Amino acid sequence: MTQASDARKTILTGDRPTGNLHLGHYVGSLRNRVKLQEEYRTFILIADVQALTTHFEHPELLRENTLNVVASYLAAGIDPEKATLVRQSGIPEIHELFVYFSLFVTVNQLQQNPTIKNEMRLGYNKGHSLAFLSYPVHQSADIAVFGAHLVPVGQDQVPHIEEARDLVGKMNAQYGTELIEPEALVGTAQALPGIDGQEKMSKSLGNAIFLCDEDKEIRAKIQKTKTDPARLKIDDKGHPDICTVFKYYEAFFPEETAAVRQKCENGAWGCGHCKALINERLGAFIGPMRETYKRVRADEGYLWGLVNRGTLSARETAAKTLDHVRAKMHLKA
Ligand code: SF4
Repeated sequence: MTQASDARKTILTGDRPTGNLHLGHYVGSLRNRVKLQEEYRTFILIADVQALTTHFEHPELLRENTLNVVASYLAAGIDPEKATLVRQSGIPEIHELFVYFSLFVTVNQLQQNPTIKNEMRLGYNKGHSLAFLSYPVHQSADIAVFGAHLVPVGQDQVPHIEEARDLVGKMNAQYGTELIEPEALVGTAQALPGIDGQEKMSKSLGNAIFLCDEDKEIRAKIQKTKTDPARLKIDDKGHPDICTVFKYYEAFFPEETAAVRQKCENGAWGCGHCKALINERLGAFIGPMRETYKRVRADEGYLWGLVNRGTLSARETAAKTLDHVRAKMHLKA
């Protein structure tokens, strides 16, 4: 019943506004979204309420971070005429649907969610609040309220979409709510490692290269990036497959990988040369995005205008969904 008036399928994607977006976001989702917006009715959710699950002590950062995320979207090529930008806090229907979904999930199920378990291991939300534990349920409501058919995700997020399918199925079976069962659109991109080479790139782990980084910041980060630890001298033979710099070549400059591999494995150049080349390439790649970012970020009125317009339009869809759900649940006069 929440099918769009146009014939296209609906996609929901988004980010928590907890800081600027980085190369991991670009590889994992942004460049794919830029393609998907051409083909699908696209909602991009700026999940500010959900950001509080890990940053509840600093609500004052939400406003700035929302602007940073929107500026990063535009820098990466998201077109607000094609994709609807939505502020989660402007859609109260999501939170109402979250409560209804919560009827169908136990605390034990949430504790067994593999993504939640991994995020606990990484130290996200140390107190493990109810809001943190239940964020997959909140995400399910995000998806269902807009009638999304597809949710582009990385492999690590697939359990959340399965959770959403399960909850939608239970709601539909219990109340006849006719919500759309979403499917995961799993990207093929491997998660990009951070410069520490240990974990995937993440702003909270401090191992990220941002889309708005200046050349000197990129150079300083690449300087610290993990390479093959066995290479001590320039002519030591290297192993690019265990080198984080090489993973960046693979992700952004695949046309260079054969030559880089050959020089590394033969000890034909040192890591310093290899890093100098990727600095140059990343500088040219990030530079135009950084300039767009700076230009639009300087105009807060323009950015809020985009967000407010998108949120108003998205709320019409959400209101229709909840009107139907309430009627089916005997919550309407
Ligand atoms: S030469 Fe390049 S690919 Fe090889 S270990 Fe050094 S930085 Fe990595």
